[in-house]
Amino acid sequence: MRVYNFSAGPAVLPEEVLQEAADEMFDYQGSGMSVMEMSHRSKVYDKIIKDAEADLRDLMNIPDNYKVLFLQGGASSQFAMIPMNLMKNKVADYIVTGQWAKKAYQEAQIYGKANKIASSEDETFSYIPDCSDLPISEDADYVYICENNTIYGTKFKTLPNTKGKDLVSDVSSCFLSEPMDVSKYALIYGGVQKNIGPAGVVIVIIREDLVTEDVLPGTPTMFKYKIHADNESLYNTPPAYGIYICGKVFKWIKKQGGLAAMKEYNEKKAKVLYDFLDESKMFKGTVRKEDRSLMNVPFVTGNDELDAKFVKEAAAAGFVNLKGHRSVGGMRASIYNAMPIEGVEKLVEFMREFEKNNA
Ligand SMILES: *Cc1c(COP(=O)(O)O)cnc(C)c1O
Repeated sequence: MRVYNFSAGPAVLPEEVLQEAADEMFDYQGSGMSVMEMSHRSKVYDKIIKDAEADLRDLMNIPDNYKVLFLQGGASSQFAMIPMNLMKNKVADYIVTGQWAKKAYQEAQIYGKANKIASSEDETFSYIPDCSDLPISEDADYVYICENNTIYGTKFKTLPNTKGKDLVSDVSSCFLSEPMDVSKYALIYGGVQKNIGPAGVVIVIIREDLVTEDVLPGTPTMFKYKIHADNESLYNTPPAYGIYICGKVFKWIKKQGGLAAMKEYNEKKAKVLYDFLDESKMFKGTVRKEDRSLMNVPFVTGNDELDAKFVKEAAAAGFVNLKGHRSVGGMRASIYNAMPIEGVEKLVEFMREFEKNNA
């Protein structure tokens, strides 16, 4: 029996995709082997990775002057790869809205001058700071954001005013959850294990003029965007099986109607939970309303024992991985693309019942 899995990542994937992968496990489309066993240089695999890129380009409407790279090392490897490749002046501005942005900011300090130009740490990252007129550095190579804060449950609803500087965004936990205008960014990246596929793959969408040999001295070959772009993500063995699953998820999203349809569904789904949190006397959302994420919903009862009791009873009832991140406590429901609305409706029913029984 499948549970309702509210994990922040690795996270729920569409059942149709898992079923298809299961059907193809022993014999991928008459090749007589699993995709896991196949050469990444084979004709069969070449079609898998090319189709994945084409479908992603189609879904996100990615302009031709952007490269799409399927890399490995998770989102965290990008914390270093970005400064190594983009810090030409060795200066970058970071907006720190959570642990992931903070880690990226700290990593960048190894390579140059990373400036924290805004932060919401003063209120446990429960809001997105006003980014309409920030002190952007004159010589900044880029401005960095984490667009959806997985741990704290906040999301940038408007992009920062970068005053003409290149914008770099970590979209790990909101990837393909809604349409985005790629042309507003210099680089978009995300680990796929939150909303797209199995852990190990990180997708980078980067404007072509930033893909150059001009990187910081000492940058390892594997950490150069250019080597991967020149080799169409096949410089070395890519995370081949993971990319195959990503490709299936892209097709699944297209079948749902694309990113606009995904957004509509995600809004409807999140509203079920947020509306309940707003009316409940026991459960409270922890985030400023206008900054609420559609993907990650942290909430608390205000009583640690009651929180623990809730998490335990919810798990027994088939609602799993609701324990909040260790840095926030309480609960967090991650309701990514593949979480059906019934999962959220049933969770709310369960919460309502729990509130009645524990009032
Ligand atoms: C999970 C996550 C990361 C880290 O991903 P890894 O693949 O484990 O390195 C980075 N940024 C955000 C926003 C995340 O949600």
